[in-house]
Amino acid sequence: MSIEKTRPPYGGHGEQGITVLLRRMHDAVAQEGSAQERLDHLTRAIANHVVADVCSIYLRRPGDELELYATEGLNRDAVHKTRLRLGEGLVGIVAENHSPLITNDAPHHPAFAYRPETGEDPLHSFLGVPLIRSGKTLGVLVVQNKAARQYTDEEVGAVQAVATLLAEIAASGELLSQEETAVVGEMLHGPERLSGYAIVSGIASGRAVFLKPPAPKHNVFAADVAGEAARLEEGLTDLRASVDAMLAQNTSLSGMSRDVLETYRLFAYDRGWKERLRAAVFSGLTAESAVEQVKNENRARLMQARDPYLRERLHDLDDLSHRLLRLLSGEKNGAGRRLYDETILLAREMGPAELLEYNSDNLKGLVLGDVSATSHVAIVARALKIPMVTGLGAAIDRCEQGDDVIIDGDIGEVHIRPTTDVVETFRSKTELQTERQAAFAKERDLPAITKDDVAIAIHMNAGLALDMPHLHDTGADGVGLFRTELQFLIGSQLPSVQTQSALYQNVLDLAEGKPVIFRTADIGGDKTASYMDHGKEMNPAMGWRGLRMAVDRPGMIRPQLRALLTAAAGRTLYIMFPMVTLAEEMDDARALLDREVERANRKGDALPTEIKIGAMIETPAAAWRIDLIAQKVDFLSVGGNDLAQFYFAADRDSDRVQRRFDPLNPGFLSFLKTCVDKARAAKAPLSYCGEQAADPVMAAALVGLGITNFSVPATVVGPFRRMTRSVNTAQIGEWLVERLPQPTQSLRAELSAYLRENKVIIA
Ligand code: PEP
Ligand code: MG
Repeated sequence: MSIEKTRPPYGGHGEQGITVLLRRMHDAVAQEGSAQERLDHLTRAIANHVVADVCSIYLRRPGDELELYATEGLNRDAVHKTRLRLGEGLVGIVAENHSPLITNDAPHHPAFAYRPETGEDPLHSFLGVPLIRSGKTLGVLVVQNKAARQYTDEEVGAVQAVATLLAEIAASGELLSQEETAVVGEMLHGPERLSGYAIVSGIASGRAVFLKPPAPKHNVFAADVAGEAARLEEGLTDLRASVDAMLAQNTSLSGMSRDVLETYRLFAYDRGWKERLRAAVFSGLTAESAVEQVKNENRARLMQARDPYLRERLHDLDDLSHRLLRLLSGEKNGAGRRLYDETILLAREMGPAELLEYNSDNLKGLVLGDVSATSHVAIVARALKIPMVTGLGAAIDRCEQGDDVIIDGDIGEVHIRPTTDVVETFRSKTELQTERQAAFAKERDLPAITKDDVAIAIHMNAGLALDMPHLHDTGADGVGLFRTELQFLIGSQLPSVQTQSALYQNVLDLAEGKPVIFRTADIGGDKTASYMDHGKEMNPAMGWRGLRMAVDRPGMIRPQLRALLTAAAGRTLYIMFPMVTLAEEMDDARALLDREVERANRKGDALPTEIKIGAMIETPAAAWRIDLIAQKVDFLSVGGNDLAQFYFAADRDSDRVQRRFDPLNPGFLSFLKTCVDKARAAKAPLSYCGEQAADPVMAAALVGLGITNFSVPATVVGPFRRMTRSVNTAQIGEWLVERLPQPTQSLRAELSAYLRENKVIIA
């Protein structure tokens, strides 16, 4: 089919086009008359403006039907008669997929559903855009042309911007009747159950707080344009002042780097942005709607950009718009950080430092976007025992600030605005869990000895002083991994030697003689400290972090070593170094420690009775040459989180890629087996401290590979002990070795069945 342009495209209206359209929409909505008349005016205004033969509005009704509510160009008798189910016809597809559909040959589209009453026979071009509000499709805006033509990007952008505004108007009550607005409200605010991934177990309930709160509710059209213009001016002044203040302090309230703030400032002072906001207000919008409107236009424009730098800027602009919206709602800086007594925190993304900033007794649960089980934010959440669910993507937007939320971190479910039945079900589930915890607590003194008499040491991972009581509750043998960097991420400056030493001493005291292995600060990767200049790295996980940073910046590691020596005076000190790649790096690490020991000796300071040095095996290079590293240390610990990340070349922070590769992959298991065998040959004690051991099936496999020393999250110590007491290491080892050459992706299903048959307790 030939593509002809019989009518001038929307682009002919230029930059000001959208402002004119907004003014017309404002006039249509402000009209005296019935809701239907206002809708009719609206469709006419849009059709005329976009130069379309047809413009129709379909609204979603109860029962998931889309009803033709208003049209310009289709047969008017079809209004309130034509109905399509979700997924039915082009309109139904737009609603179901929550995304626009564009075609210049609608009648031949496989999803086309013919509705004779509409008289749409000769229409070839179709552009349908969903009306989305709070993550839900409230309806569809359709533009159609007789001729087979291609809608330009600018036209699509304009129709999308109009659709956003329409969704807002539908929800605001400014357009529809009271009864219809109530139906929309029910759709937006009814109970919802979302399914994601279970990352940190446990059940939590509370009220929703967004890390970056969405815009508060507001009217779309202004009654007093001059007043709105003044509010906008004031909001912009406040915004600029707040960005200036942030820059002046050079602190990072939310971990933002100076670069980002500089870019913010540029945008905040951008004259073009301000002019477009003012034009939108003068077209009749409230200041808030103007911000939303211009944000959507920018979004439509920048999403098309090929240049990744420009696409990145979209994030900055969105963020700035959000700040402005919050200021317009009267919320001053920081007010968005208030937590309810019981809070569920929601965010598309979040780093470990941000979580620590928010941590308080009021924080009960976390719902995050694309984050995997071994990401540091998940590790910190686990340490803090904060149940966490991820993988909800854009569905997070279905929740609004202050909504009641229940999360189930065992199965990855999130209930928004739950019904009383759901609340009751979860109440009894929580009781059951408490009983289960009590049962594990009773077993805390039972020896972790396998059926074939192999003693397994079960240590726990920690990173904060408040983890330490778990050592007692769980009966863990000690702390196999104390992640010291968490202390470095919390504050706005490098912690002093005294502060560090006080923490380490407290931890050692609370351990009451059980060993604690301190891992020197593994800063870098996703653990960035706001006060440190990490520079720009394309792949920070493989960049300047851990031991690499420590040897280059002795100013950071030496005070830490000094603090550790002081804290452990008169006791055994275990120090472990992260991100070791080559055996020689351990010489550098030892030299740094020796210098501190010499310094202490010179000053006559008391020293630990004994110092044991360990290396983390978390790069394939270190794993491959583990025998050489073994010669230089007292112990080895496999950091399976990073090791798996590098083995599979799969970012541990990205849930999307993490789910492609199961650590129960026979290749990865045989790689681990090589490490275990080489370490044994070198007579070096080896432990496993990666989070994968929190998965009971993986834990059983690791025991089968011959690992007898573990460090796991505190919550897992009880189930881990039960598993070890019911497993036969020799048998499972034989079973595994036979299967390691298998060309399968994962041994999970087979191994789970084997464990069930052999009555190994993995629940
Ligand atoms: C690991 O990489 O497995 C590990 C234990 O260290 P972290 O998770 O802190 O990087
Ligand atoms: Mg690591």
